[in-house]
Amino acid sequence: MENFKKEKVTAQTLMSRLAALALAAALALGLVGCDTSSIVPGGSGDVMPNPAASQTETTPSDGQDAAFQMHFIDVGQALSVLVECDGQFMLYDGGNVDDGSLVVSYLQSQGVEQLQYVFCSHAHEDHVGGLAAVMAKFPAGHAYSPVTEGSTKCFNDFVKYTQQQGLQLEVPSVGTVWPLGSATVTLLGPVTQYSETNNTSLVLRIDYGVTSFLLTGDMENTAETDLVNSGANLKADVLQVGHHGSSTSTSYLFLNAVLPEMGVISCGTGNKYGHPHEETLSILRDAKVDVYRTDLQGTITIGSDGQNYTVATEHFATDAELNPTDPAASSTAQQAYIGNVNSKKFHLPSCANLPAEKNQILFSSYDEAVAAGYSPCSSCIK
Ligand SMILES: [Zn+2]
Ligand SMILES: [Zn+2]
Repeated sequence: MENFKKEKVTAQTLMSRLAALALAAALALGLVGCDTSSIVPGGSGDVMPNPAASQTETTPSDGQDAAFQMHFIDVGQALSVLVECDGQFMLYDGGNVDDGSLVVSYLQSQGVEQLQYVFCSHAHEDHVGGLAAVMAKFPAGHAYSPVTEGSTKCFNDFVKYTQQQGLQLEVPSVGTVWPLGSATVTLLGPVTQYSETNNTSLVLRIDYGVTSFLLTGDMENTAETDLVNSGANLKADVLQVGHHGSSTSTSYLFLNAVLPEMGVISCGTGNKYGHPHEETLSILRDAKVDVYRTDLQGTITIGSDGQNYTVATEHFATDAELNPTDPAASSTAQQAYIGNVNSKKFHLPSCANLPAEKNQILFSSYDEAVAAGYSPCSSCIK
């Protein structure tokens, strides 16, 4: 498992480096202005010194002057993410109703005067609640939500203040791309309709240079699997860990498709749901994801210059506090296996005879592989 993850991360880092090289070459040739979408990787034969891949640091002063910033505002057991690029702003969720004034004053402290886009990930109060106060205060270009009507007062208030601006709530379609300064925002999901509100969460991919971010709201396993199967580009440096770190989100399958370096969990101290769940922390630990948590670190700000990103947190917390899973316990808990869909053999992730990626299927345990009709590889599984 560990070897597998390391290899995958290395491959991702290599991709980032290649893309960074292409970006540097394009910049040198004067090919790019503000539009990063015009960058075509692999366009130069120049060899440059190995640029550092994405790095994370927790120095409070870091990232504050970057052209791109993502703020996970500490709204307790809720979610609110402010994104800034080149002086333009968008907001993804606004916390609970009671967080409205906090979110408004945070936006003011960041110099927000208007919002290009306001996204309500889904119609639950801990996401839409504070958006009414935001819409009452800040003019917005567009307001998006997976639904246009809700049965709760907080959702109706969001609609009311949106309409008071002369705007109509819009339901965006998958594949829509919005510019935010020189960053691009892409709607990846939901890829189908769901009756479970959490699964209706708008899933956004944000690219700035070669750095990438994934916002997933409260999307749970069913929608994660559908999203992976849709073939969407899910690989990202930073993942907003779904549903406040609940075990109903962040499946192995999904995490394997995203392969983030950093995961941010927005949850409240001592919340009644027990978020983040032990299972989620264990999966994140196995995948070597650096965990950040608003319940322990307060507001978390990620700055990017398009090649590297830095992290600043309001409070300090140790790694052991952030992911208290016992590593010994998690290593004996479950071993993942990779099956070959053609030969129906399954292998340890460290096996030298792994099938091509397109023929791989991931099993989270030996028993699961056997139950699926696969038999163990004789060279790697003794
Ligand atoms: Zn939620
Ligand atoms: Zn929810």
